Amino acid sequence: MDRYAPKPNIKKGDEVLVLAGKDRGKQGTVNRMVIKEDRVRAVVGGVNFVKKHTKGRPGVRQAGVVEMEAPLHVSNLMLICTQCGKPTRVGKTQLPDGRRARVCKKCNEVIDRS
Ligand SMILES: [Zn+2]
Repeated sequence: MDRYAPKPNIKKGDEVLVLAGKDRGKQGTVNRMVIKEDRVRAVVGGVNFVKKHTKGRPGVRQAGVVEMEAPLHVSNLMLICTQCGKPTRVGKTQLPDGRRARVCKKCNEVIDRS
C-alpha cells in the first residue's frame, strides 16, 4: 500500500452507512476495496449507482447505458458495528494473542470476526 495512504478502517465484507452524496443514509455491504495512490475507496453493494455510457464491442458487450456501482471514498462511509448494530467510529486494540483488532467506539466490543 502507498505510504501516504492511512490504513482504512473499513474492509471488504463490512456493513457500512453512507454519510455523504446522493445515497446518504443508505446502508450496504462493501463488495470491493479500490486502493489507488493516496485514496482508498470502497464499492458498496446497492449504493451510488452511476449510469455509464458504453460503446459496444462485438461479442463482448452491447452499446448502451449500463448502471454500475461507483466507489465511494472511505471517509464518506461509516462502519456499522457487528455487535451493537450502530454506525460507529473505529478504534484499534491488541488482542491477548497479539493480533490487532478493530473496536467499536460505541460499545467497546471487538468488531473483527476471527
Ligand atoms: Zn458497537
